[in-house]
Amino acid sequence: MNQNQDILLEVRNLAKHFSAREGVFGRSIVRAVDGVSFCIRRGSSLGLVGESGSGKTTVGRTVLGLHRRTAGEVLFNNIDIHALKAEQLRTLRPHFQLVFQDPMGSLNPRVRVGDAIGEALLEHKRARADDVRDKVLEVMQICGLAPEHYARYPHEFSGGQRQRIGIARAIALKPELIVADEPVSALDVSIQAQIINLFSDLKEHQGVTFLFISHDLAVVEHLCDDIAVMYLGQIVEMASKEQLFSQPRHPYTQGLLSAIPIADPDQRRSRIILKGEQPNPANPPTGCRFHPRCSFVSEKCVKTAPELRTLPDGHQVRCHLA
Ligand code: SF4
Repeated sequence: MNQNQDILLEVRNLAKHFSAREGVFGRSIVRAVDGVSFCIRRGSSLGLVGESGSGKTTVGRTVLGLHRRTAGEVLFNNIDIHALKAEQLRTLRPHFQLVFQDPMGSLNPRVRVGDAIGEALLEHKRARADDVRDKVLEVMQICGLAPEHYARYPHEFSGGQRQRIGIARAIALKPELIVADEPVSALDVSIQAQIINLFSDLKEHQGVTFLFISHDLAVVEHLCDDIAVMYLGQIVEMASKEQLFSQPRHPYTQGLLSAIPIADPDQRRSRIILKGEQPNPANPPTGCRFHPRCSFVSEKCVKTAPELRTLPDGHQVRCHLA
């Protein structure tokens, strides 16, 4: 198999800009995503990490065709999904699914969860009316839901169980790619671990590929093979999980990692406090977008924007010091 066949999703120079109201008459352009590129190998998982407002959710929604791109390409199995007509995209949609932070928003409170999971199977003709129940029970079992849950309504479930229902709906169509957007951030820590284990099983045993979006590096550490860190619409660092955790090169990544609590005192990193807040993406700083918060800022950083450079070990970093 050549390397291109091994790539399920390739995002090239993706940009998504929104027009926003400014003052009474003015409008400004919010560059929510600005020149983002990455690949995900079939059966692997990429974690996309950053603070709220970094553009990571916009990347996820644009990858799925839920936002139209401003520029760039999203190649799924080498097909540019933004070049497809609506009907062609509808045919392709079962192959990539979204898992939300709050599955309640996508569940009709008056529809039994078994029927909700089976809806997509019937709509996309993946099951006949007489065998849809068996197929639903099968995915419910994979997701740790009991047969008696089939006839219950969404409000009868806990947060963790509702996330299992959301995942069951997503995997019922046997997608190749799941984009999971903050899927555990609303859950208790013990339930988070159960849901992350479920994602790991799906990756291991069903071969599902993941784009896993989170504000929390500690969460993606358990599931992801590679990690991309976003800041103000751009990727500032991308590497394998091992490289990123052992040798973070960008000052922003170093700050995020230093905030992760570590039980073993010998392994603890010294805490780096990130100054201030992420600036408004409608009015990004000159030069390096991170410079107002960076402890290593120089005159060059204020004037010249660093490129995302690939280092000899494959690590990609957007910083003049790398
Ligand atoms: Fe900090 Fe300069 Fe590197 Fe930006 S380019 S992260 S301001 S050192």
